Amino acid sequence: MLIDEVHVYSIPMRTRFRGITVREGVLLRGPAGWGEFCPFVEYDDREAAAWLATALEAAERGWPEPVRDRVPVNCTVPAVDPEEAHHIVTSSHCRTAKVKVADHPGSATEDAARVEAVRDALGPGGQVRVDANGAWEVDTAVDRIRQLDRAAGGLEYVEQPCRTVEELAAVRRRVDVRIAADESIRQAGDPLRVALAGAADVAVLKCAPLGGVRRALEVATAAGLPCVVSSALETSVGLAAQLALAGALPELEFACGLGTLALLEGDVVADPLLPVNGELPVPRTPPAPDPERLAAATPADPARTAWWRDRLRRVGVVRTAR
Ligand SMILES: [Mg+2]
Repeated sequence: MLIDEVHVYSIPMRTRFRGITVREGVLLRGPAGWGEFCPFVEYDDREAAAWLATALEAAERGWPEPVRDRVPVNCTVPAVDPEEAHHIVTSSHCRTAKVKVADHPGSATEDAARVEAVRDALGPGGQVRVDANGAWEVDTAVDRIRQLDRAAGGLEYVEQPCRTVEELAAVRRRVDVRIAADESIRQAGDPLRVALAGAADVAVLKCAPLGGVRRALEVATAAGLPCVVSSALETSVGLAAQLALAGALPELEFACGLGTLALLEGDVVADPLLPVNGELPVPRTPPAPDPERLAAATPADPARTAWWRDRLRRVGVVRTAR
């Protein structure tokens, strides 16, 4: 396919998140606008292909009509100390907070203190959810979930407590807290297995790894679970696609994980998609990058630009106009 324009970006993270300190990716422009291609560097070409499909959907075709204009979002609290966690929540103005737990072995006490600080910052009316990114064994998960549920004065849900769908189902039978499946849906050959196994109460969807907004909507329908749309740490260009998905879901019961732009030190558009009063607007079309910000985000090391251009070529964009 022919893409009109390609820009590689590199933006430092404010806090180490998901083990990365710099976010990199490619912005590409097609007839419908801009798309973002930013599979994490360790992903293989096969996995990256779905991310490219998402970028090309935005650039070549655009998105389905939304059914809402605004989407409530959660703030994200990385593995930081309680004081900083409190500050992140109060300064976000979000009514829902997602707290990273199980960041390293032996983190139980720190996790509980962080969750307590988050509840304190939100007050009784807010929602606290935690994300373990599959770190626990079943018995550990059951213990930790009970402990964190107490510390939070009630958790909204726990995201991916264990790695496999079978483990999620085992944990779900033993705790009262809702279980959300995240990595299980992204990585499963058949995302529907999560629902079939009785493993989850909530499905976390990211359009990038599923191959686009339309494909993610199909997965949502087939999963038959309440869905939460979550970002993949994109710039505003990629976030716009995630918001298009959140805007097009027939039902939206929970706040989405799309308030992640502040985790980056910068952005590529002039009007960044930062939450206002805990909400983000649903864009009809992808925002265009601002030339000055784009220039500022150009990788200092030309080898990184070459690496991304090569990756783009390997995954499927064979030709670019410039
Ligand atoms: Mg997650």
